[in-house]
Amino acid sequence: MGTITILPETTKDPITLIGRRAGVCWGGDVEDEEKNYKRGMDCIVSNHGRTMEYVNVELVLDGYSARVIREWYTHIGGAPTRLQSSTRYINYQAGFDYVVPHSIQKKEEALALYEKAMSDIQTALQQLEELGIAREDSAMLLPLGMSTKIVDKRNLRNLVDMSRQRMCTRAYWEYRELFRDLCKALSEYSEEWNWIVKNLFAPKCDVAGYCTERKSCGRHEKKAE
Ligand SMILES: Cc1cc2nc3c(=O)[nH]c(=O)nc-3n(C[C@H](O)[C@H](O)[C@H](O)COP(=O)(O)OP(=O)(O)OC[C@H]3O[C@@H](n4cnc5c(N)ncnc54)[C@H](O)[C@@H]3O)c2cc1C
Repeated sequence: MGTITILPETTKDPITLIGRRAGVCWGGDVEDEEKNYKRGMDCIVSNHGRTMEYVNVELVLDGYSARVIREWYTHIGGAPTRLQSSTRYINYQAGFDYVVPHSIQKKEEALALYEKAMSDIQTALQQLEELGIAREDSAMLLPLGMSTKIVDKRNLRNLVDMSRQRMCTRAYWEYRELFRDLCKALSEYSEEWNWIVKNLFAPKCDVAGYCTERKSCGRHEKKAE
């Protein structure tokens, strides 16, 4: 599937950084990293969410569908920002990559149909180009399933919140896979991130103790009426 690159601007020591920032307001010794770590952990365990906003995360998401990226963009808490591959300047007439859903991949007939539809779109793009149509107009034909690339910047609090929605079994499968890739990439980035992924990223039912969705997957019971 896609790939996630954690850019070096991502905070390497998120827990310690939280403690360093909180220490300023508590008149603490922010030169002592051990104390900063303990203070940061205290903030997290006490659910002082605002302190998580100091932790910066910058990523390149590459090879996921334009469709899942559209969903990624709904997480706007904390004013994240991003850049996305242009549909005006990139030459998709020469071909574009796309995501193939598992259900289609494993059914030969469905796969042939899906691939033909993608190939027909590409042919139409080429023919429109020959007719002198600008790429910004022919790009209207590009499918949601085509893969795209974004450079994304957000904070830890936003990602914790995202995990509540997107680790839910009812979330779109590609988003769940993307989120799993993100957990893996961040866990490998540093020990402190490894702790964060294991302890703070969880679907909303695990946090609430019951399912909040109308249609439940059964992982947790629905709250009694
Ligand atoms: C099973 C499932 C089905 C879904 N179906 C759809 C769908 O059909 N269509 C669709 O569009 N989305 C759908 N979603 C996505 C979902 O509805 C949200 O759009 C998405 O999760 C991002 O919103 P958010 O509030 O979770 O996150 P964020 O926007 O990042 O917000 C995080 C938190 O910040 C605070 N916040 C953010 N903005 C404000 C504000 N303006 N004022 C005050 N507080 C704020 C709130 O506390 C909020 O909970 C679905 C999600 C799931 C899991």
